[in-house]
Amino acid sequence: MPTFDYAPAPESRAVVDLRPSYGLFVGGRFVAGTGGSFPTVDPATEQVLAQVSEASPADVDRAVTAARAAYRGVWGRMSGRDRGKYLFRIARLMQERSRELAVVETLDNGKPIKESRDVDIPLAAAHFFYHAGWADKLGYAGYGPDPRPVGVVGQVIPWNFPLLMLAWKIAPALACGNTVVLKPAETTPLTALVFAQICQQADLPSGVVNIVTGAGPTGRALVEHPDVDKVAFTGSTEVGRLIARAVAGTRKRATLELGGKAANIVFDDAPLDETVEGIVNGIYFNQGHVCCAGSRLLVQESIHDELVRRLQRRLARIRVGDPMDKNTDLGAINSAVQLERVRALSAAGEAEGAQRWSPPTTLPDRGYWFPPTMFTGVAQTHRIAQEEIFGPVLSVLTFRTPAEAVAKANNTPYGLSAGVWTEKGSRILWMADRLRAGVVWANTFNQFDPTSPFGGYKESGYGREGGRHGLAGYLTTGAAW
Ligand code: NDP
Repeated sequence: MPTFDYAPAPESRAVVDLRPSYGLFVGGRFVAGTGGSFPTVDPATEQVLAQVSEASPADVDRAVTAARAAYRGVWGRMSGRDRGKYLFRIARLMQERSRELAVVETLDNGKPIKESRDVDIPLAAAHFFYHAGWADKLGYAGYGPDPRPVGVVGQVIPWNFPLLMLAWKIAPALACGNTVVLKPAETTPLTALVFAQICQQADLPSGVVNIVTGAGPTGRALVEHPDVDKVAFTGSTEVGRLIARAVAGTRKRATLELGGKAANIVFDDAPLDETVEGIVNGIYFNQGHVCCAGSRLLVQESIHDELVRRLQRRLARIRVGDPMDKNTDLGAINSAVQLERVRALSAAGEAEGAQRWSPPTTLPDRGYWFPPTMFTGVAQTHRIAQEEIFGPVLSVLTFRTPAEAVAKANNTPYGLSAGVWTEKGSRILWMADRLRAGVVWANTFNQFDPTSPFGGYKESGYGREGGRHGLAGYLTTGAAW
């Protein structure tokens, strides 16, 4: 019998020229850090990709000083029109180097190359294009006729979408006239360092963008630095709380984009095959390392068995393995620490009585891997229904009426996103009115666009990123210049 298995289709690494070690990007130059260094590894193979500097508090201070000088000397005074030109230039350079960026992202993060190539990098460039357009039109954004920048912004980002989160942070900050010091996550610093090269290539004035690599203590030094005017953070709710405490009582502003436990709600009139694709995209995209992932599937009871059957058939066709292969659907878990967390929460799901299911999958010997997993028979009280797993694990629950679906969907400490699947437009609107979630997707999931504001309710954080609303965090109105 002939089979129709996919042949290997590996992306080439030749387009990437990784250095053995990287310094910090401060004042427009790569400089040696004073806090030692750490390796960044490919989570699919556990191979060391490069050594990266660990920024000490003194290094963070140098970076903030460089950002302040650039803000006072150049960027804060530059016309919006000229700032926009730099942002357009950066966006175009990101497009020019998109293949290289995609390969570096996949090597450092473990996500499939088709996702970094088709989602992360194009969206990151789109954020710069979009905000380049705003730079000379801020007076029409609804924040007064002459809104002003905030000053020096300290930005701390996570490892799940390294370059995209950088773009969400840096593009609006620069468009509004602020300068930045950004700390990428410890496990995924490399695309931020390539971005630093792009800033050099674009002739961005020195000190407008500074990149300090390191772990939690570097992030803390940045957040607590007295000369930072605003903190922008994306990451866990736990660290978000620490940051909120650190800035409370200071003059600093903060925006926090934290965790989620989104409900993806399927009514009995939904088109099931399309819905299955939406569910897969909702929770297995990016190994489930997505703050707005549709990790709780709420299914109307009458179609539960049929939907689960179709989902199982679909999950058996997910290709798990080498992230650099263009056919791979599910790549590596980003780190050993994260793998342990996904394993522990999945074990808790079983211990609490939910039924665990994964398709037969052969996982690679080296690296950090977890198969696509689904739990049925999940109760509201189970940890896998309440806590963010941040892995390729779906919890399936049922409901009977729309009111019950709303009550269950809202029954978490989070409120970042939700999905509704039904053919009735009126029901979509009825649900969207009642769901406490920053984004509600209807008959789709995980759609992102720079023009659309994104952010949370409750413990998912505060402030919005993207769109006109996202500018608010980077502008002050009515202040004297
Ligand atoms: P963290 O919140 O710890 O990391 C996010 C960023 O904050 C990283 O750059 C991290 O540095 C930095 N950081 C850590 N501690 C501090 C601190 N005290 N002050 C300032 N910055 C700090 O997320 P984790 O990587 O630990 O992931 C844990 C869980 O968080 C995940 O399982 C997931 O549930 C959730 N998460 C949610 C994300 C989201 O998008 N909402 C993104 C990432 C995680 P470093 O990485 O170097 O330690």
